[in-house]
Amino acid sequence: MSDVVLEARGVHKTFGRGKTHHEALRGVDLVVREGQSVAVIGESGSGKSTLTRILFGLDCPTTGDVLFHGRSITGKEGRERLLALRRASGVVYQNPFESLDPRWTAAQSVAEPLLAQVADANIDERVDEAFRVAGLDAGRYANRFPMDLSGGQAQRVAIARAMVTSPQVLLADEPMSAIDVAARVQIVDSLRRVREANPDMAMVVVSHDLGVVQHIADRLVVMHNGLVVERGETHAVLRHPTHEYTRTLIAAASW
Ligand code: ADP
Ligand code: MG
Repeated sequence: MSDVVLEARGVHKTFGRGKTHHEALRGVDLVVREGQSVAVIGESGSGKSTLTRILFGLDCPTTGDVLFHGRSITGKEGRERLLALRRASGVVYQNPFESLDPRWTAAQSVAEPLLAQVADANIDERVDEAFRVAGLDAGRYANRFPMDLSGGQAQRVAIARAMVTSPQVLLADEPMSAIDVAARVQIVDSLRRVREANPDMAMVVVSHDLGVVQHIADRLVVMHNGLVVERGETHAVLRHPTHEYTRTLIAAASW
């Protein structure tokens, strides 16, 4: 059995039509394996969000295909597979306050994805465990509303919510970008702990800053103008970047 969980094959994505059309992805292949942590890096506008949204079935490719456990999620035939991917994935966005309902306490936000999946008797235990893994003291934060949380605390609640169902694949798109510099290390730690607690889970982390993701990624995928210009194991790419653009990113890295 293949350990490939998600795969993009020859993915193109064009936005708009005619004179104003824009080719955001120009033929991208990407493989994500069980237990792997892949960082997709590149400057703003290089196509990272477009690629990863398509990979997680949140948008459609213009041409090309996406496979979840070897079967296409695109088109009518892929519908069942797409729904299976949705159930098996968690997503963390840049701004935690946009992904948390302001009327819900932190515990309610984390419990909600479980309501359809788990017997009521087990929910409290799972929510406590998710708080613990995400690096938040449940006793202190469970009953707080988003407005009473800092950005870093709210993002850890969003991480707990994304992983509470034990997803096979987790996407985090610029999870540190909206967080105070001082609190970013807590987000990195939180994502690290989520991996440790779910060794088979695959993780895709998007960032324009190589500095923050090099500590959580096994592999790096470098995007530039809608293409992957370099990829490989994190330490190998950092030590021997082959593309000029990768060298620029390494020089600009914040940590
Ligand atoms: P990144 O995440 O690397 O910053 P994106 O994937 O968001 O880049 O965007 C890649 C390119 O596609 C950019 O030029 C962006 O303006 C364009 N783009 C992204 N989404 C849309 C959209 N919904 N409509 C039109 N253009 C888009
Ligand atoms: Mg983006």
